[in-house]
Amino acid sequence: MEYQQLLEHIRAEVVPAAGRGRVADYIPALAAVDPGRFGMAVATVDGEVYGTGDWRLPLSIQSVSKVFSLALVLREDGEKIWSRVGREPSGHPFNSLLQLEHDQGIPRNPFINAGAIVVTDRLLTLTGDARSAVRDFLRTEGESSAVGFDPVVAASEADHGHRNAALAHLIASYGNLENPVPDVLDHYTWQCSVVMTCRELALAGRFLARHGTGASGERILSRSDAKRLNATMLIGGTYDSAGEVAYRVGLPAKSGVGGAILAIVPNRCAVAVWGPGLDASGNSVAGLAALDAFTTLTGWSVF
Ligand code: GLU
Repeated sequence: MEYQQLLEHIRAEVVPAAGRGRVADYIPALAAVDPGRFGMAVATVDGEVYGTGDWRLPLSIQSVSKVFSLALVLREDGEKIWSRVGREPSGHPFNSLLQLEHDQGIPRNPFINAGAIVVTDRLLTLTGDARSAVRDFLRTEGESSAVGFDPVVAASEADHGHRNAALAHLIASYGNLENPVPDVLDHYTWQCSVVMTCRELALAGRFLARHGTGASGERILSRSDAKRLNATMLIGGTYDSAGEVAYRVGLPAKSGVGGAILAIVPNRCAVAVWGPGLDASGNSVAGLAALDAFTTLTGWSVF
């Protein structure tokens, strides 16, 4: 089946699931998004891009940004981050304070909020401007200067960010932050508020399907680090449903509470899906259904 035909087939199959689940409402600005939206894009390793549905509408990528901040830290700083953040599945909600206390301020993986706060802290030290570093990377790899921040979402999250503030203070109490808590939280919040389309997101994730090679052919990550980042997504990228997602989809993936999921098919393509309705773990209901159909129809999984 051709890519375009495949995507149209999947959209027809998944559209009944669009609108199912609950739109994230703990960040009030996200609750205003139409739950019936659905978009999907595929960016192949050899430069083709395909899409269906709302694939050219800007969406709030939220935690999908964590993939890119980690990639930048690995690129700038090598393996050092792993002394401050683990790489094991969490099995707890993405914003758990209980687990962080138990783990004595070393977050279980870089994709739960606590882990991403530590990664952003390091990126802030390395670049002086973590949020712009993430946005600029997404503009370059996403091949679009339209990638930007949504100030309304950023302000909404900042106004309701008590739990992230609690996580950051707890991490700091264990001596695992280099910068002042308000600065780290500010960059973390803005980084989560990046808006871009499924098309741009699939393009931006493509270097992970290309073993670390970026849009213009330069190396972003070593082959090993690209493998490790994909592995970390597989075990920790979809909240506490990593097992279920591995079972149903069988690809490294990262979800965000805006309803986006970025999935990587090594050697072939990056896939971005968007459906704002979330399941109980925080993964897009329509997005997972679409990725499930994608790997079932193509037979492309890492297993
Ligand atoms: N900005 C959100 C938060 O910190 C991101 C959560 C997510 O997408 O998983 O709660």
